Amino acid sequence: MAAAESDREVPSALCTEFLNFSVKDTASKWLQVTDLYKEVYHHLARYVPKIYCLGPNLNPQSEDLLAQMLLQAPLEWYLCGEDPSTGLAKLEQNNQPSQLCGHVFKVGEPTYSCRECAADPTCVLCMQCFLGSVHKEHRYRMTTSGGGGFCDCGDTEAWKKGPYCQKHEPNISDSCQEDPLAHLSTDMIARCYNVFSVVLKYAVDMLTWDKEDELPPGLEPPDRSDTYYCMLFNDEVHTYEQVIYTLQKAVNCTQKEAVSFATTVDRDGRKSVRFGDFAFCELAKSVIVRNTSRQSKPLRVQVMHSSVVAHQCFALKALHWLGHVIGYSDALRRILCQVGLERGPEGENSSLVDTLMLCDSKMWKGARNVYHQLFMSSLLMDLKYKKLFAIQFAKNYRRLQTDFMEDDHERVVSVTSLSVQLFTVPTMARMLITEENLMTTIIRTFVDHLRHRDLQGRFQFERYTAQQAFKFRRVQSLIGDLKYVLISRPTEWSDQLREKFLEGLDTFLELLKCMQGMDPVVRQVGQHIEMEPEWEAAFTLQMKLTHIISMIQEWCATDERVLIEAYKKCLTALTHCHSGFADGEQPITLSMCGHSVDTIRYCVSQEKVSIHLPVSRLLAGLHVLLSKMEVAYRFPEQLPLSELSPPMLIEHPLRCLVLCAQVHAGMWRRNGFSLVNQVVHSVLWLQIYYYHNVKCRVEMFDKDLIMLQAGASMMDPNHFLMIVLSRFELYHIFSSAECRKRYNRENANKDVVQQNNTLTEEMLHLIMMVVGERFESGIGQVEGCDEIKREILHQLCIRPMAHSELVKALPENENKETGMERVIDCVASFKKPGVTGRGLYELRPECAKQFNLYFHHYSRADQSKAEEAQRKLKRQNGEDTALPPPVLPPFCPLFASLVNILQCDVLLGMLGAVLQWAVEPSAGHWSESMLQRVLHLIGMALLEEQQQLENSSEDNDVYFNFTLKMSRPGEAPSNTASVLALLENLQNAPHLEVHEDMIRWLLKTVAGIKTLRERSASTSTVTASGSRGQEETACDKDKAERKRKAEMARLRREKVMAQMSEMQRHFINENKELFQQSLEELDASTSTSLDHRYPASPDAALACVGPRRSRPREKRQVVTCILCQEEQEIRADGKAMVLAAFVQRSTVMSKNRTRPPHDPKRYDPLFMHPDLSFGTHTGSCGHIMHSHCWQRYFEAVQAKEQRRQQRLRVHTSYDVGNGEFLCPLCECLSNTVIPLLPRTMGSSSCEQPGLGQWLKTSGQQIKAMHSAHRKLQPVSTVEETVEEECPAPEVFTVDYIPTNPYSSTIKEMLTTFGSATYKVGLKVHPNEQDPRIPIMCWSSCAYTIQSIERLLVDEKKPLFGSLPCRQDDCLSSLARFGSACWTAACQPTVQGHFIRLLAALIPDPQVEASPCILDVDMLHLLVSVVLSYGSVHSQDSSGLSVDAVQLHLFHLITVAHMVQILLTSGPEEVTMEQESGEAERGEEEGACRLYNTLRTLVGSSLPEVGSGWHLWRCVKTGILPYLRGAALFFHHLHGVPAPPELHALCPGQWEVLCGYLSLPSNLLQLFHGQQELLEPLLHGWCTHPGIQQTLQGGGVLVSFPRESNSLIDLPDDYSALINQASSFTCPKSGGDKSRAPTLCLVCGSMLCSQSYCCQTELEGEDVGACTAHTFACGAGVGIFLRVRESQVLFLAGKTKGCFYAPPYLDDYGETDQGLRRGNPLHLCHERYRKIQKLWRQHSITEEIGHAQEANQTLVGIDWQHL
Ligand SMILES: [Zn+2]
Ligand SMILES: [Zn+2]
Ligand SMILES: [Zn+2]
Ligand SMILES: [Zn+2]
Ligand SMILES: [Zn+2]
Ligand SMILES: [Zn+2]
Ligand SMILES: [Zn+2]
Repeated sequence: MAAAESDREVPSALCTEFLNFSVKDTASKWLQVTDLYKEVYHHLARYVPKIYCLGPNLNPQSEDLLAQMLLQAPLEWYLCGEDPSTGLAKLEQNNQPSQLCGHVFKVGEPTYSCRECAADPTCVLCMQCFLGSVHKEHRYRMTTSGGGGFCDCGDTEAWKKGPYCQKHEPNISDSCQEDPLAHLSTDMIARCYNVFSVVLKYAVDMLTWDKEDELPPGLEPPDRSDTYYCMLFNDEVHTYEQVIYTLQKAVNCTQKEAVSFATTVDRDGRKSVRFGDFAFCELAKSVIVRNTSRQSKPLRVQVMHSSVVAHQCFALKALHWLGHVIGYSDALRRILCQVGLERGPEGENSSLVDTLMLCDSKMWKGARNVYHQLFMSSLLMDLKYKKLFAIQFAKNYRRLQTDFMEDDHERVVSVTSLSVQLFTVPTMARMLITEENLMTTIIRTFVDHLRHRDLQGRFQFERYTAQQAFKFRRVQSLIGDLKYVLISRPTEWSDQLREKFLEGLDTFLELLKCMQGMDPVVRQVGQHIEMEPEWEAAFTLQMKLTHIISMIQEWCATDERVLIEAYKKCLTALTHCHSGFADGEQPITLSMCGHSVDTIRYCVSQEKVSIHLPVSRLLAGLHVLLSKMEVAYRFPEQLPLSELSPPMLIEHPLRCLVLCAQVHAGMWRRNGFSLVNQVVHSVLWLQIYYYHNVKCRVEMFDKDLIMLQAGASMMDPNHFLMIVLSRFELYHIFSSAECRKRYNRENANKDVVQQNNTLTEEMLHLIMMVVGERFESGIGQVEGCDEIKREILHQLCIRPMAHSELVKALPENENKETGMERVIDCVASFKKPGVTGRGLYELRPECAKQFNLYFHHYSRADQSKAEEAQRKLKRQNGEDTALPPPVLPPFCPLFASLVNILQCDVLLGMLGAVLQWAVEPSAGHWSESMLQRVLHLIGMALLEEQQQLENSSEDNDVYFNFTLKMSRPGEAPSNTASVLALLENLQNAPHLEVHEDMIRWLLKTVAGIKTLRERSASTSTVTASGSRGQEETACDKDKAERKRKAEMARLRREKVMAQMSEMQRHFINENKELFQQSLEELDASTSTSLDHRYPASPDAALACVGPRRSRPREKRQVVTCILCQEEQEIRADGKAMVLAAFVQRSTVMSKNRTRPPHDPKRYDPLFMHPDLSFGTHTGSCGHIMHSHCWQRYFEAVQAKEQRRQQRLRVHTSYDVGNGEFLCPLCECLSNTVIPLLPRTMGSSSCEQPGLGQWLKTSGQQIKAMHSAHRKLQPVSTVEETVEEECPAPEVFTVDYIPTNPYSSTIKEMLTTFGSATYKVGLKVHPNEQDPRIPIMCWSSCAYTIQSIERLLVDEKKPLFGSLPCRQDDCLSSLARFGSACWTAACQPTVQGHFIRLLAALIPDPQVEASPCILDVDMLHLLVSVVLSYGSVHSQDSSGLSVDAVQLHLFHLITVAHMVQILLTSGPEEVTMEQESGEAERGEEEGACRLYNTLRTLVGSSLPEVGSGWHLWRCVKTGILPYLRGAALFFHHLHGVPAPPELHALCPGQWEVLCGYLSLPSNLLQLFHGQQELLEPLLHGWCTHPGIQQTLQGGGVLVSFPRESNSLIDLPDDYSALINQASSFTCPKSGGDKSRAPTLCLVCGSMLCSQSYCCQTELEGEDVGACTAHTFACGAGVGIFLRVRESQVLFLAGKTKGCFYAPPYLDDYGETDQGLRRGNPLHLCHERYRKIQKLWRQHSITEEIGHAQEANQTLVGIDWQHL
């Protein structure tokens, strides 16, 4: 390729240029010229194309170097007028930095905001500033930055308090207002001005340049080459995969290169994918365009001349340079700002800054990012120019937004996103409103982009195309800008601000008018609707505007004049909307109970109705403000109150509320039966849900209710109620003269009756709310925080709640605050969480009396839950269960007349009617909830009267007299009963038992009011005391009554208990046999371990190994199959019983995570290295099955899985293909079964040989086996140098083949478990013939024992008796399986293993490559050698007992382990010398002697140790885990019960443990007692070449005891982790930020997860960084912390994973997965320990299984890509 050649050539050509180039000369020349601009352009034209873009592969390092030398250096020299290294330093010295921190955030960096002091949520601090600020002690919020934006430290407008951190605290002596230019010489200023003008102009020219093949004037290169780039641009349409695929085709690159191209395009916005002559590049372009144009618009590709690309590259460099240079001095920064904003030749908006902004949407991502950053570090950091820039930004606002609508890039890379930096500064926002009319501009721009209107000019979203929907989403960012502008309310108003704000309000009302009544619905009776109604867009608009509407009201609330004007404007707008209000709607007259009113005929169920009424609602909000600010009383003459028409005000809100009631009543569902109607109904249901939902209700439902209150307060209550009845379409029922006999008349349609019942309930509820909702300040006389207190109280009446639940249930303001913290402690107490769950707030008991069952924000479900909870509470406290209404605060004067609704004739008529229906309940024309509401209303009325009486000083004040009205009989028809009479009548009605307490309460209150009235009638104190006396007696009576009830309850309980126990006795008698049986079963299934807990004969010392080992109590072992429930005895010749088991690879105990994984095909697992780097763990849930039952079950699972895959292509939580299944009983993940075997019987104890004798015999046996095995091998491989035939001892028959004691099913299961362990442990395909199968089984047994031993130590539990049954059963079956598995393998093979194992202890010349003892884990050796001995012993008929051999082997290995420990023990610690008792002398001396022997053998590699105490301590602590492991092993192998001392954590364990293991407690006696026999062995061990090598650092030296592994230490403060992760860069893509930094909790590695860049290939599949890491670090299992998400990730294999709660909690005891709430998080040690325990006990995979079973969506996630 030509390119390579030119690559080499060019630098050399440049070299000569470079050698002749003098920075100083160039700069000097420039200093003399008059036209610097021309001169510099000439220079750039000459050099830039020679430095940049010379080949296909850019070479950033050398390019940067050359650019620095040839281009930047002369500019700097010119700037300083001297050598820049001194000039710039001087500048820096003289600089007085501003108080702004201005740290620009990286992606993922933590940011902090103070909930108490920040002006708005966009005000943030960087970590460093935060830690030095006062806000650290406040309630703060922590988030991770999305990149961009900067630290607001030092900005006094951003913080209400503490704007400076310690570092940025201004020095008081400085005068902040000083002009930064004052320190600079005029010369310098002029030069700086010149050079900045030229460079910035150049950069703007190049970045906005859109010609592909030519350059701006003055930049044409002197010699033009013929090289081009094919440039690929980013778009938001095509996916990564599409781009990668296309590139591979178009430019013929590898997938890896394509991925790299695609990544760069995504990051920088463009990337050259081909370099060459024009035709070559054009070809690639056409392929790309053709390939991507099929479904969508094609990828953007340009063929650009290399010189154009070169200049663009340098232009970016130049902007970087400017940013760098102004960092030296604030003065330079100011000059740059000045240059940038200087008006250009084209007049207004033609400065360089304007040019850049206006071309923003045409530039590629990388260019935008660079100049945005320069803006941030220059214009936004200089307070004077920030203002000027903001003005330019506002002037261009409309144009910029329009460009943004057309552009397809995300908002973060659009210049419009800078609005947040400008508009959130309060003084700036106000300046822009007054001077640039910004509020109006924003709203206008917004309205202009929503074009679709209906005939009435309202928005219409119905036929929105995808394109329009996309635009609609983009246009919403304007609302965000509006929010910024309004977020801080003015404290002072100027006339100009008033004028512009009201102008903005006018525009806003225009917008709201387009929404008033939009998206109307009509109930469908017929069949056809053309299309699914589109409602989301309208609702989105409403939701987005919610805060704006609230904020506008808050602005109005700060100025009376503005409020009055706004109220007028809003009223005008509303009148305008409903000018045609009565058009076509016929007037009618309603009359009832002697009152009549004129209204119109309108049915919600027949005509159009809309849920969107923002104009009405804004007016309602302003109306409340009139009352709250007392404007209504102080300036009534300025208000258009006389123009108000209350019926007009309430009409539309009322319709909306009726619509909700009708939907609840099912009226919008029943009539049509078409599917479409169902859709309409569910869509409506959703809208109504949002209408009441906490996100919307403040500006929807709440305001509708307020509007009804406002309207009703201005109307005759009777008229109001009649209109309500009429709109609810219930007027005909209640107005009828025969109304009280409803059940007689109306019997037609059951559905209709039902509907009317529901509507009546809803209507009664509405009346309650209109009269009772007084907690908004301005409506009732309440404090600001009473409303929120009441919200919280009612939430907690449902149940105790976590902090986040409460936050979700409360409306948030524009600052995302609920105000909850101020009041929560008044109503609730906090209860801390345990290891699981979260902290909860509980209602304070004294607050329960404020509970209102008909709280307006309860949903029906909430209501019934709260009712149940409160009744239960009352019962528990021994109170009656009435839930009367709470006492309410009085209304403000403007709303005061609302109480009259409670005593008006129409209401009493309605109450009477419902009560009458309840008296005669036969026909179902009433409902209990209807009655309950009526009772509640009566209660409200009574309380109102009581309150007024109690608070009045003058008797005549109380005009409210409900008691009087309720005692009057009904008016028409005559002789109907009064409300009071009806209540008395209902008091004892049997069908109303639930309401008994409530009715009693009502009647008592009536009586109380009567006495109050009587008392106030007569002023004598006698009556007062008399009434108190009455009260007291009433109180006493009440108490007595309660006592009687409690007594009755007790008796009833006792009776029930007696009955129950009688029944039980009866049952047991009848099922006696069954009972007996199940008790036995219980005994049997807790089987093998429990029955050995206590010694058979308590006197004999227990020993678990050796000829003197204790015999377990003989007992049949009977277990029950969980599948067929049949019992089965465990016998060698019986049916096989199996335990469900899970085998997994493990690195939990690894002491060496750097060891590379073994090659599974060649790895020899016979010896485990003491670093335990890879092990095989076996666990079990302990559930037992017949082998045939299990097989049948597994086959069924397989078949089901096959069908499922064909049908659904879904995955399960387990991989059947890999032998996985779920335990049929507990659903625990399993992948094999272990057969249960009977325990071995002890052999007869005849005289047994000593160590010397045994060594001799076994040596002979081994020789015999060697020669026998050699015969078995093919002749060719037999070595010729065979020694003479070795005669076997007579009692040892090498060719004797013992009979296999096991039944066929057991044999089969032996093979099953063996090959499963082999397959999983080595990660190979199953092969029943592989000789390594038994080794893997022994190894798994040893590893599992070791891990359980560690776990017991870590959990501080005794060695025996604390393990759950399932682990006991698992260990027993593993050990017994191990001792039997040789029967399923080839006997000579197993014997061969035995020989090689033994050769590590007793040197055997015929065994090659025995490991040195430092490379052998002794417990593994012990377990393997003991378990493999069975194969040798089967051929011995000498009467030698297995027990004796086991003991010899055990002693030998123990000695070897002691030697191992002494060899690896470190040098003694000087200060540890201790007085030791007489008893320990022997041990210490022995240790010294052995150690010195070792030193003579090994030499100087061992340090000199004088202290026997130290050595003995090393041996004792070092060997303990091994001894404990051995005890576990022999205990489970032989079933010998353990001594009771080992069931507890008491002192003296050492002696007991040694005794149990048949060891002397002075272990060194093992050696010194047999010194002459052992010394040759010792010699052999120590002279092994591996010893020297390892001791001198040539291998992994493990010292004992091995410490348990822990998960890594985590910092207490979560933000420390975020900070750590934010500086983490992807290791593969050269310094890029990682999107999902993830921390391995096992080893502490940080990984770049869930990203293309770090995918690697593992076993032929692409996997993410986490999955790849698990294979190296955790043998396939991984525990990670996803730092950005604050989420723990468990992974197992490639397909399994789940998320787990992180160990970080906020102060409310809650986790924050996804970091959404941003409360400070701290490490919870308990929870972290819990995760660690899961890991240590190998339960991660099991945990994943359970999580996936519980949540099927977890199964579908592509875990391997994480
Ligand atoms: Zn900062
Ligand atoms: Zn600071
Ligand atoms: Zn603060
Ligand atoms: Zn069975
Ligand atoms: Zn189970
Ligand atoms: Zn790791
Ligand atoms: Zn990466």
